Amino acid sequence: NTIPTIELNNGTHIPQLGFGVFLVDPPEAERVVTDALEVGYRHIDTAAIYKNEEGVGRAIATSGLNREDLFITTKLWNSEQGSDTALPAFETSLDKLGLDYVDLYLIHWPAPKNGKFVESWKVLERIQASGRAKAIGVSNFLVPHLEQLIAETEVVPAVNQIELHPYHQRRDIVEFGRANGIHTEAWGPLSQGKSDLLLDPVVVAAAEAHGKSAAQVVLRWHLQQGNIIFPKTTRRERAIENIDLFDFELSDAEQQAITDLERGLRLGADPLELN
Ligand code: NAD
Repeated sequence: NTIPTIELNNGTHIPQLGFGVFLVDPPEAERVVTDALEVGYRHIDTAAIYKNEEGVGRAIATSGLNREDLFITTKLWNSEQGSDTALPAFETSLDKLGLDYVDLYLIHWPAPKNGKFVESWKVLERIQASGRAKAIGVSNFLVPHLEQLIAETEVVPAVNQIELHPYHQRRDIVEFGRANGIHTEAWGPLSQGKSDLLLDPVVVAAAEAHGKSAAQVVLRWHLQQGNIIFPKTTRRERAIENIDLFDFELSDAEQQAITDLERGLRLGADPLELN
């Protein structure tokens, strides 16, 4: 049951499977993350806008785990983008987490109408150079945003965290990332519980064939695709279920059948519109 790690483009390593805390209520976050760490997760994905960095930080502090055995990601919120605001926002996140560095710091959305992601990225480059973020990346960037960043700045993002599940696979972005050393992180790996993905006959058939749940089959599909994932749940028994992915393997035919479910179903915001 060991979670594989993936080497990012600056030589740091990220556990391919982690735990996400979007929409985990702040008062619940410490308990939820404590459960996650107890059942074996070592990679936690949060964000300033989730308002639960303090709870995540308390869970880390009381876990008794060594800092170097954890991988912690947080994100810069859109309203804090800019050459003067990004650094204080980062420092607030570090304070709330009670950490002296994060493993990965992301620009949460490109917010292209604001036109500030390039200047914000230059701040992230300085943060990385200071050692307070071991790696830096972006989230919800489309190919033209990645192209602009690569053309106008020094550091190539280590990851791009995008909505990605069998019903919405973003192949253009994944391929661009692969060609440029940008690893894809899949948010909403289970389609956020907002589609019938876990009832899809193709998923259910694979689940029955392996004696696993539909959620486990979808998460396993992501791992075999090479995606980095961090499914979210507030329920300890589901946290255990979602990490129990290493005693089976989808066949090539099963993997392909799930890949063939693509239907362009975006559930989250449009990266061109969200400010
Ligand atoms: P997800 O696909 O992980 O879905 C979570 C939901 O799936 C749960 O609320 C629950 O309803 C259901 N679920 C979880 N485990 C299950 C199981 N074993 N069986 C049945 N149902 C199950 O969606 P998410 O939380 O939106 O995405 C994962 C993480 O990605 C987030 O917590 C967050 O860290 C990150 N994220 C990032 C962005 C971004 O803009 N960068 C946006 C959304 C989420």
